[in-house]
Amino acid sequence: MHDDDHHHGDDHVHPHGHDHDNHYSDMQARVKALETVLTEKGLIDPQAIDVIVDTYQTRIGPRNGARVVAKAWSDPEFAGWLKTDATAAIASLGYTGRQGEHMRAVFNTDETHNLVVCTLCSCYPWSVLGLPPVWYKAPSYRSRAVIDPRGVLAEFGVTLPEGQKIRVWDSTAELRYLVIPQRPAGTEGWSEEQLADLVSRDAMIGAGVAAALPGAAA
Ligand code: FE
Repeated sequence: MHDDDHHHGDDHVHPHGHDHDNHYSDMQARVKALETVLTEKGLIDPQAIDVIVDTYQTRIGPRNGARVVAKAWSDPEFAGWLKTDATAAIASLGYTGRQGEHMRAVFNTDETHNLVVCTLCSCYPWSVLGLPPVWYKAPSYRSRAVIDPRGVLAEFGVTLPEGQKIRVWDSTAELRYLVIPQRPAGTEGWSEEQLADLVSRDAMIGAGVAAALPGAAA
């Protein structure tokens, strides 16, 4: 996980071709070296580390975002606050900190589906989603999400209605996006806890939709 302090704006096509994908950043190199030394000394099991990272990527981290979405579905006042000042609304639930200082919530509707990318690197709302998945950082996702969002979504198993437009949001170091998926039909009267179970990490990036049934999310 690298930490980007670059300042790419959201009002332009990125002209700079900097590319750190083929090189470890300083921090990555240090982490890699440390992992190698500890493994060689028999102090850690790299597979155990993978499990821990996976837990943060797919379970603990995204639960925060799922609670934000569930509250937005359940509480119109909170949803309104989220639309006008996502940073404050999210912070009110206790989700603050690094890489979550400036948040914007984008709501999916019948007309528009939102998809989030960081074309330059991997800016991501850590406070609500945890660690970014590997594919989010991959050059192929970063370029193709902009050029062919519908094709990318198809690869995630998401087929949107023809009439539903896709809006792609390019994250920056200053502004991170959280997609609020559409609430699945047939969930009237569900508790926020139950609703949160329908909200996957991918749905909050826009690379998925909220599950129709608990456990159906990838
Ligand atoms: Fe970035």
